Amino acid sequence: MNIEKSGFNTKLIHAGEIDDQFNSATTPIYQTSTFGFQSAEDGAKCFAGESDGYIYTRIGNPTINALERQVAVLENGYGGIAVSSGMAAVATIYLTLLSSGDHIISTDAIYGPARSLMEKQFIRFGFQSTYINTTKVENIKKAFRPNTKVLYIETPANPTMNITDIAACADIAHEHGILLVVDNTFCSPYLQNPLDLGADIVFHSMTKFINGHADVVAGIIVAKEKNIYNQLRNMMINLGCNMDPHQAYLVLRGLKTLSIRIERAQQNAHKVALFLEQDPRVAWVKYPGLKSHPQYHLGKQQMRGSGSIISFGLKGGFDAAKILMDNLQLALLAVSLGGVETLIQHPASMTHSKVSKEDKLKAGITNDLIRLSVGIEDVEDIVADLENGLRNGYNI
Ligand SMILES: *Cc1c(COP(=O)(O)O)cnc(C)c1O
Repeated sequence: MNIEKSGFNTKLIHAGEIDDQFNSATTPIYQTSTFGFQSAEDGAKCFAGESDGYIYTRIGNPTINALERQVAVLENGYGGIAVSSGMAAVATIYLTLLSSGDHIISTDAIYGPARSLMEKQFIRFGFQSTYINTTKVENIKKAFRPNTKVLYIETPANPTMNITDIAACADIAHEHGILLVVDNTFCSPYLQNPLDLGADIVFHSMTKFINGHADVVAGIIVAKEKNIYNQLRNMMINLGCNMDPHQAYLVLRGLKTLSIRIERAQQNAHKVALFLEQDPRVAWVKYPGLKSHPQYHLGKQQMRGSGSIISFGLKGGFDAAKILMDNLQLALLAVSLGGVETLIQHPASMTHSKVSKEDKLKAGITNDLIRLSVGIEDVEDIVADLENGLRNGYNI
């Protein structure tokens, strides 16, 4: 059977398998740093790229490659490059695509460290960046400079839940002869396939939905074409930000249940969003599945579901939010998202604390914003927990 032509769920269960001598049901962990060559000639061939034998785990490993093939199949790309974390994916992409003096246009409300890596560290190497609200195509067009080399978006964006039009961004990028990179962490390949909408590179923090069990930190990059794939892979190999085989095994295991986890989590999230929207103590709710979301129709168009991340604010602002967070018993007060457990956090003082106050406000990361990653627990319990926290916060 041709797995690449099968349905999404069949790919989830079988695309990460490898042929081994025992016909194993799961992909074994090849916990080895190096691989012996058949002969001196074979070793030379491996290094020359004339044989696909394994050399050294930083370069390639059967367990890691199984995961890379699987995610590449799920994203309809040419190939995947698994890395040690989502940020390793970000760094590998920046360093592969940009040279000193090059410019990048990006979403203002992206994952905080992806922005501070550029603005606080890579600025020393002459990289230039402009962060804008990419929900408006006009803003992107205006931000172009003669030295712009990359358009990099995150949609839905962290933590504002703003949705950017991927197909429109691909058109603008390609009109200017540059590449479009999409951080697809919030959707996973189950809800959105940016390469199918015209993007050139998609990446994930697999720490989140793809692994889904809050026990691994990992990342992956998938390129649409061979040439860019090779450039990214060579950068990863020399940077040494490869994944570990055991880490790859855990992600392969977690990934198998991606669709049933997301289906359940987004069902729950929808109910939680409706609960929050009608609660008199809640000032606003932003969730792609609510008609009140400013890009509700675009979300319906490019995503196959609304996901399970909600941002909201309370009428009592940050003071009330603190009391709410301190009074939850089920939801864990923690960063990260996309796992089976419900997590809550305050971006302005936590995940996005390194972004300047002014840039946070410009990007819509207000001090009252609370981010909730809804898990797969019984939704009645999640709602009861929030209800209880809100009641305590308002002394009612
Ligand atoms: C978590 C996250 C990252 C970074 O991934 P790590 O695995 O923590 O390094 C990048 N982008 C988004 C949207 C994320 O949520």
